Amino acid sequence: MNILTVVLKFLKNLFSNEKTKETKSVSKNADAKNITGDTKMETKNEGIQILPILEIYNLRKYWNTERQWEGIVVHHSQTKDLQTVDWTEIFKYHTEVNGWQDIGYNFGIEKQDNQYVFCIGRSLNIAGAHTKGYNSSHLGICLVGNYDVAPPSEEQLIMLTDLVIQIQHLTGIKNEAILGHWETYIPRGLAKNQKEAQAIKSCPGLMFSVEEFRKRLEV
Ligand SMILES: [Zn+2]
Repeated sequence: MNILTVVLKFLKNLFSNEKTKETKSVSKNADAKNITGDTKMETKNEGIQILPILEIYNLRKYWNTERQWEGIVVHHSQTKDLQTVDWTEIFKYHTEVNGWQDIGYNFGIEKQDNQYVFCIGRSLNIAGAHTKGYNSSHLGICLVGNYDVAPPSEEQLIMLTDLVIQIQHLTGIKNEAILGHWETYIPRGLAKNQKEAQAIKSCPGLMFSVEEFRKRLEV
């Protein structure tokens, strides 16, 4: 490789780096624009609304409801989360196959393009469609992934903790009112204990310890 080739290669790299930087800053500005626009969030992948990650600490800005929520039910989607956008698929399934007016959950956490994002679901003003007997009192959060086969990643758990804590600040929901889907089978009289309940419904996954998750909220 002669010196000219090296210089040309260097300049080419420099140019392509600059170009990437430029694209990044444009999309960053686009995010900023959405953040300032009151309840407007970033929209990508067929109308799916994404809450910019740091905006989780500004959740109050998006909390456009007077509805008194009493608890939260945590779910998993039981789908394989690779690089697909399962949130879109869940939305389509709930609206097109089930014929519901919107996706059943209020929030989701999914890995998209190699990074976890907060997905916005059903309006906070209306009852959800995720847990029999709890839809009008409890918000539904869905972790996209299958935690029957492997536990959720630490990153996803941290995001869930952040989201739940912010919701607690806005609603006063107590730690004991944060439930895994299977736990609702016990008060509903459908199961006597964890084993029986999880045999009917394992959600949010056999490898997801709801008990351990609640402990994260205590600190
Ligand atoms: Zn569930």
